[in-house]
Amino acid sequence: MRRIEAGSYYSYLPEGCKLCRKGAKLVLFVTGLCNNRCFYCPVSHAKFGKDVTYANEREVKSVRDFFEEAEMMEAEGVAITGGEPLLKLERVAKFVDIAKKFDMHIHLYTSLPAGEEKLKKLSGVDEIRFHPPELRNPDAYIEPIKAAKKLGIDAGFEIPAIRFERRIVEIVNELDAFLNVNQLEVSERNWENIVGKGYKVKDYYVENQEVVRAYEEAEKFHYCSARFKDVAQFRRRLIRMAMNHPDFYAITRDGTVICCRIEGDLDLAERVLNEWRVEYVRFDDCIETSPEIDIVIREALKSEGLKLSLVERYPTSNRIVIEVTEI
Ligand code: SF4
Repeated sequence: MRRIEAGSYYSYLPEGCKLCRKGAKLVLFVTGLCNNRCFYCPVSHAKFGKDVTYANEREVKSVRDFFEEAEMMEAEGVAITGGEPLLKLERVAKFVDIAKKFDMHIHLYTSLPAGEEKLKKLSGVDEIRFHPPELRNPDAYIEPIKAAKKLGIDAGFEIPAIRFERRIVEIVNELDAFLNVNQLEVSERNWENIVGKGYKVKDYYVENQEVVRAYEEAEKFHYCSARFKDVAQFRRRLIRMAMNHPDFYAITRDGTVICCRIEGDLDLAERVLNEWRVEYVRFDDCIETSPEIDIVIREALKSEGLKLSLVERYPTSNRIVIEVTEI
């Protein structure tokens, strides 16, 4: 087994996971619709059961939103997920076509035991990860895994470490498929269910190492810890996004950005900044400029009644603020 960051390890790392590790995979949440009710479902109340599409944190209302997000993080691949993405097969096929034009690697998660006919409609998908809801009836995925492999798609299971299901190991070893086991993560959506079933929660995840070790019998095995997602995957994606911001933003080790935010009469603020030839970005609600803005310009802006603050925020499309200090 090869050990990587934050307790993750593998004997086989699917291509999609290699790109996730680099922070280079865009997560395309195709729809929040799903006919299952897994007790550990991590999809938020805001999205579950709703037919909404997101590219990372950005709501996708048109193909343009998808492109903007892909460009912002210089995506090298797409992870298609949901809800149950295959409930919106045409939508998935459309995004697969678009992503393929840009030579992106595509992996798809699904709980549906999709057969050859369905898979043929998704030509362009490179990798498919089947998730039997609550690990029930893994045999239903034998034919789909065979069909995917026949079509040249790398295939396997991706499951949360809720319990050991021997049949899953037997199937992957018989079919030369891979097995991804994820540490069970706790969110506001699933916390009550997980605690109610007696799982021991530490921070925001469940330690279930005995179960994980049992799955090591799979020949093509990969364990992904909850912390890995934060310290490797998410952090690296943030850094990629931050690097695509104008040079005046300061970038932290965590991939967040620091800038000076100006609020108030933005037309007026623009006039002052243009007069002083200061670089800035204008949003609907504010203007952002260098955190090292010259004190004279700062005072000129304040004297016009504008509010200035130093802001540390995520470089994501929703610009979530971490810290604000008025200056
Ligand atoms: S299949 Fe996935 S999206 Fe659907 S309920 Fe289960 S965990 Fe949630």
